[in-house]
Amino acid sequence: MGEMHQVGSAAPGSDARQPETNWAGNLTYRAARLHRPRTVAEVQAIVAGSERVKALGSRHCFNDIADTTADLVSLDALDIGLELEWLDDVATGVAWVPGGMRYGELVVELARQRYALHNLASLPHITVVGATATGTHGSGNRNGSLSTSVVGLEIVRSDGQLVTVTPDHPDFAGAVVHLGALGVVTRIGVRFQPTFSVRNNVYVDLPWDRLLADLDAVADAAYSVSVFTDWREVTQVWVKSRIDELDMAPEEFFGARSATAPTHMLKTSSIENLTEQLGVPGEWHERLPHFRAGFTPSKGEELQSEYFVPRRHARAACDALRSLAGRIAPLLQISEIRTVAADELWLSPAYGGDVLALHFTWLPDEPGVRAVLPQIEDALRPCAPRPHWGKLFSAEADEIESRYPRFDDFRALVRRFDPRGAFRNDYLDRTIGAFR
Ligand SMILES: Cc1cc2nc3c(=O)[nH]c(=O)nc-3n(C[C@H](O)[C@H](O)[C@H](O)COP(=O)(O)OP(=O)(O)OC[C@H]3O[C@@H](n4cnc5c(N)ncnc54)[C@H](O)[C@@H]3O)c2cc1C
Repeated sequence: MGEMHQVGSAAPGSDARQPETNWAGNLTYRAARLHRPRTVAEVQAIVAGSERVKALGSRHCFNDIADTTADLVSLDALDIGLELEWLDDVATGVAWVPGGMRYGELVVELARQRYALHNLASLPHITVVGATATGTHGSGNRNGSLSTSVVGLEIVRSDGQLVTVTPDHPDFAGAVVHLGALGVVTRIGVRFQPTFSVRNNVYVDLPWDRLLADLDAVADAAYSVSVFTDWREVTQVWVKSRIDELDMAPEEFFGARSATAPTHMLKTSSIENLTEQLGVPGEWHERLPHFRAGFTPSKGEELQSEYFVPRRHARAACDALRSLAGRIAPLLQISEIRTVAADELWLSPAYGGDVLALHFTWLPDEPGVRAVLPQIEDALRPCAPRPHWGKLFSAEADEIESRYPRFDDFRALVRRFDPRGAFRNDYLDRTIGAFR
């Protein structure tokens, strides 16, 4: 049956990291076995026969969300291929993506056929299923998270049954951002659209006061905007415009000036891992991510956290974090501010309203980071922050549930899909508490 290894003896995926740890190296998976099934039937047999089991994507989460004690299942050797299904007008369609496929692989095939996804995260290295399971997002006032492109899931439940969940199914809105709690997703359907071109213009020295005064206009200035800051000053603004919407790049951007050379958001890092800047037009998948496939994304030696607040709290949230700048600075590599459009997916951080995403790339000092997170969460509390499910945070179920109107419905969904708790783990007990 497929391949089975003691954890640590196989190398799923192409990252050079040891397979028993997550990408950041701050977590060693505790599972006794790592399976690499080749068929869906093998996935079903592994799941049905395991007491505790989790699917593993590309291991880019910074917390124990994908951890388990008995069996980990990587779908990177699954023998099903990518299938494109066209809708009536042939201009759009659905890509049926195998459970272990990374965005980096999907985008190449879509681009080859002149199609695109609506948005991408900062890196193409992550799996489509793992990313959409946690509400992973890019930026843009009118861009929902990557999970909003999902139109179908094929899930192996803990009884080994394969079920298909599509938008006409009453569980659909609860099942898309699933945190790995419902089963092993063997195939996911994501919507695609005609291809488009993007240019990235980087600006430096945007005054904070100007950013706060014009935040909505800054975020609305292009298809996807990222603001980088250390909470003392705004270091850079990355303005990614669609050529078909706005084929211009002003020399000045809300008082910031145009960068004259490629610029890394992390001052000491090499620019070779970045996608092209300086306004050079390129295909969507070569501009929307900050980092290039085939290179280490970001820095590699880091931890990350992120909080989402309703857009009406944007200014208060920025003020709260600026007041903590002295506490944050010794641990911070850089912060990034992005926007994500509202959706109706129960556990999406953008459920029910547009949000501002406040991201932290930390130094790899986990005790230090864990000490500062409660202070950040205290400071943001009046803004009702929702933590990124795949990054480091300290809030637990009692607090998190107050931020999600459908939280109890999700708990009930988990108990229906997984009544014996095979997909339970410490993370889900702590943050969801479906089996209390
Ligand atoms: C350098 C870097 C940059 C990042 N940039 C961004 C960004 O721009 N925006 C953003 O929002 N996030 C970002 N992230 C976070 C990242 O997108 C998420 O952590 C994402 O969930 C990682 O996907 P993965 O494939 O590595 O999943 P994993 O970490 O392997 O797993 C995540 C969850 O998905 C579940 N899962 C995976 N595959 C399956 C499956 N087949 N069936 C069922 N469940 C499954 C796992 O059980 C687990 O619960 C970044 C992370 C890194 C390391």
